[in-house]
Amino acid sequence: MIHELYQKAGELHGHFCPGLAIGVRAAAEALRILGTERGGFSKYCIAENRACYQDGIQVVFGTTLGDGNLELRQRGKTAFNFYDRNTGKSVRLAAKSWPENLTRPELAEFILTAPLDEVFTRTDVRFEAPPEAVVRRPQRVCPRCGELCSEPFLRVLDGEIVCLDCAEK
Ligand SMILES: [Zn+2]
Ligand SMILES: [Zn+2]
Repeated sequence: MIHELYQKAGELHGHFCPGLAIGVRAAAEALRILGTERGGFSKYCIAENRACYQDGIQVVFGTTLGDGNLELRQRGKTAFNFYDRNTGKSVRLAAKSWPENLTRPELAEFILTAPLDEVFTRTDVRFEAPPEAVVRRPQRVCPRCGELCSEPFLRVLDGEIVCLDCAEK
C-alpha cells in the first residue's frame, strides 16, 4: 500500500527520492492518526520547510498548493502539521535523525517502512489552521482591457474601476 502511494507520488514528482518518501509516509500516517481519508476540503497541512516532500503530501494527503490547503511556514524543519477541520483532530510529525550509512534508495525504503517512532516524532501542532475557505474572492471585468481581475487588485481611475495593469498605464 505505502509503495503504491510512493509510485503514484513519483509520477507527479518526476523522480523517486528520500524526500518524496518522507512526504508520502508522513501523509499516510497522518490520515491514519486523524482517522480520515484523502479528499474533501476539510484537511489542511502546514509544512515547516520546502522540499520534495510537498509532492508526497499533495498526492497522499490530498491538500495542494492549488486548492490553498497546503501551506509553507518556513522554519527549516522537516516537520508537518496535519489537520482535519471536520473533526478538529490534528497531529505534527517531525523527522528524526535517521541512520547515515544507507544509500538513497535504502533510506527511502527505511522512511517508508520502518516503525513510525523510528522515522518521526509525534507532537501537538504548532499552529492553528485557518478556517475552511468557502468564499471565493470576487472578480470583475476591467472595462479597459476586458480581462477578469480579483477585487484587491482593482483600482478606481477617473471614476472607473479598472485592473491594476490598466491603472498603472
Ligand atoms: Zn525529489
Ligand atoms: Zn485592465
